Amino acid sequence: METRIREVWPGIFMIHLPLPMRPTIVNVFLLRSGDEWALIDTGVNSSDSIQTLETALQAVHCPPSRITQIICTHHHPDHFGTSKVYKEMTGARLYMHQAEYERSHFFAPQERPAEAVNFFYASGIPIDRFARVPTPHEFWAGLYVTVPPDAFIEDGDVLHVGDMEVEVVWTPGHSPGHCVLYLRREKVMIVGDHLLPKITPHVGYFPGGAEDPLGDFLASQRKVQRFDVRMVLPAHGGVYTDHRYRANQIIQHHEYRMGEMLDVIRHGPHSGYEVASQVFGFDVDSPVTVQFPATFETLAHLEHLRHRGLVDKHTRDERIYYRAR
Ligand SMILES: [Zn+2]
Ligand SMILES: [Zn+2]
Repeated sequence: METRIREVWPGIFMIHLPLPMRPTIVNVFLLRSGDEWALIDTGVNSSDSIQTLETALQAVHCPPSRITQIICTHHHPDHFGTSKVYKEMTGARLYMHQAEYERSHFFAPQERPAEAVNFFYASGIPIDRFARVPTPHEFWAGLYVTVPPDAFIEDGDVLHVGDMEVEVVWTPGHSPGHCVLYLRREKVMIVGDHLLPKITPHVGYFPGGAEDPLGDFLASQRKVQRFDVRMVLPAHGGVYTDHRYRANQIIQHHEYRMGEMLDVIRHGPHSGYEVASQVFGFDVDSPVTVQFPATFETLAHLEHLRHRGLVDKHTRDERIYYRAR
């Protein structure tokens, strides 16, 4: 097997792990200082991904037992999905933000809660057409096999890997407890899904989530701009340098999207699903993997516009409609 590990900074290794869907790769990172190693994020729980990681560890002569810490940026399957296997393989302490651990229960085997079905209906999703949309558990199945963290991390915490100082920076938005990791001496930032070079991460509004996730996300973009960063290590895509420039692009992208959505609802009240279908250009026959995320993403924008006082919403026949003020 081709070795998919590369030392991107002295003591910092990037590993490409395969994913069964787009994006097709997640980057996880190994930190090394002296004899101590730490793993940042896990990939999904597939034999392909686990084998790739094992081969990478061998290539850099890292016995799994030397990995003393596993830090997950957030709870999504490509970042936390193999936590059980790696916890058992290494004996490391596992760290993640508490809000992420709470969200991870969303992937537990369960009937779809009535709250979610009502929310889909209220958002204008034609749910009769999607009677058998899989639950998160059904969709991810064995790719998500996790253990509870040994400790929760919070904004400003500093973890030590040998001489390395790893500062936790809480960056809610993509998920409520997402954290990026700032290596203080190296001025290297491991950004998870927060600040990707080519794509923008999903920011969605759904039941049990944040009230204004896009507002949180935009604030978190401004927050990371305050750090002095020499290298950005994203979970998807290549290494890059100008994090402030990229954060501005991402902020502008969402401002533009909000402008498009305002244009739609200036013509009259629309449900989240109706706005999404116009802005993202799908119809009821498009894949559900397009329609659902696009609707949640649209709702995040509409709710942020509402928090800014530019949009109202009202309920009619158990459906929620947004209109420009
Ligand atoms: Zn994610
Ligand atoms: Zn990801």
